[in-house]
Amino acid sequence: MALPVVNASRYSTILPSTGQEIEYRPYLVKEEKIMMVALESKDQKAIMRAMKDVAQACVFTDINVDSLTSFDLEWIFLKLRTKSVGENTRVRLKCEDEECNKNTEIDVNLDDISLSEIIENKVIKLTDDIGVVMRYPQINMLEEHDEETLKTPDGAFEMVIDCLETIYDEENVYQVIDETRESVKGFIENLNSRQFGMIIDWLKDIPSLEKDIEWNCVACNKENSVKLRGLQSFFT
Ligand SMILES: [Zn+2]
Repeated sequence: MALPVVNASRYSTILPSTGQEIEYRPYLVKEEKIMMVALESKDQKAIMRAMKDVAQACVFTDINVDSLTSFDLEWIFLKLRTKSVGENTRVRLKCEDEECNKNTEIDVNLDDISLSEIIENKVIKLTDDIGVVMRYPQINMLEEHDEETLKTPDGAFEMVIDCLETIYDEENVYQVIDETRESVKGFIENLNSRQFGMIIDWLKDIPSLEKDIEWNCVACNKENSVKLRGLQSFFT
């Protein structure tokens, strides 16, 4: 005989990168366990994989999880967590006073966490006639390039190629997907460092969950402030 379904609530939210409305259910104990184990491992790839699996299981709307951006997934996870566990999370923050360095536990209301601004301008003008149109990295790219990627020259290079949507000049718009990786690489190699830097700067501003927190240290009462950024800073 079929046993009753305990949790059947449905909620909706807006997918940040596209504005599409999606329906979801809160995650269940088994899914929470998958997430928490991944977050505690602090392994970027494991976290991405867990977020994808949990989003796949909890979102009813037909979406391609692999094509979501990192901030879409962070947003979905925040919503799932709020509806499943509750609005509060407890973070441990270290006093900035070097003599003190003691931890204070602070309750953070998840409803107050927002997504940093989505940059609407995706066009980077490299010369008067030539430029590129960027796209936010999709989750499947971030599984390949971890958080340290942008700091290494080779990694930054590969990530830039993956995040180019089109290249344009006076006469044409070239879809990067239709070009060989070799020719796109050649295009990037011929930029000067200022132009390359403009692209890297754009990529550094990928939106993320963030919140400013001010607190007084339990040990020395110093007033501290910090900007928490990224899913992991709220849940580990
Ligand atoms: Zn202190």
